[in-house]
Amino acid sequence: MNIILLGAPGAGKGTQAERISEKWSIPQISTGNIIRDALKSGSDIGEKTKYYMDNGLLVPDEIVIEIIRVRLAQSDCAGGYILDGFPRTIAQAEALDAMGIEIDHVIDLEVEDEVIIKRLSGRRVCSECGATYHIVNKKPVVEGVCDKCGGTLVQRKDDTVETINERLKVYHAQTEPLIAYYEAKGLIRRIPDKGSVEANVKAVFEALGADV
Ligand code: AMP
Repeated sequence: MNIILLGAPGAGKGTQAERISEKWSIPQISTGNIIRDALKSGSDIGEKTKYYMDNGLLVPDEIVIEIIRVRLAQSDCAGGYILDGFPRTIAQAEALDAMGIEIDHVIDLEVEDEVIIKRLSGRRVCSECGATYHIVNKKPVVEGVCDKCGGTLVQRKDDTVETINERLKVYHAQTEPLIAYYEAKGLIRRIPDKGSVEANVKAVFEALGADV
């Protein structure tokens, strides 16, 4: 099963992708995580993408399309995958089509901008394993420490209010048109935010034809 998760930054794509990944035993492919790992390791891709990421801008299509092409060719993708954060432009969606990839479901997580701003500005991530927390809604057991691996929790550089506003602008201008793109293919399932992770998981699983 090949699934795309659409939605604004902070709509909960990462959280839903993790849950789908566990339930269907298919990998979560997050271009954001791949790019952040590249930045940490100081690789060539990291250097080319740092400016865009730090400023809440989209990395040029040709770079992310190549990242995805390489990742989807790996053996763990043979039985399906969840694309979390890709495609983000019409050109990226067309590149997936051109690769001959068949998408089974496109889930659109619909969340108001004001809710997104509150969520992202309170988000903290583990600097070691990438697990996400929230200073109000999803606190770790020990403040500032990851429950899963003991790593230090930090604020992503692009989760400051100024950059969040830029990312939302970019989302509306460049990514939102994908809803119509996949609607025309009859693939879109819209999931209005239910206000809690568990309620959203239930709605997403139902859209994919399974119980929680
Ligand atoms: P995310 O973790 O999905 O919010 O992505 C963080 C940042 O990585 C974005 O703001 C972009 O700079 C970059 N990025 C991730 N995925 C893509 C994509 N599909 N196209 C362009 N840039 C991307």
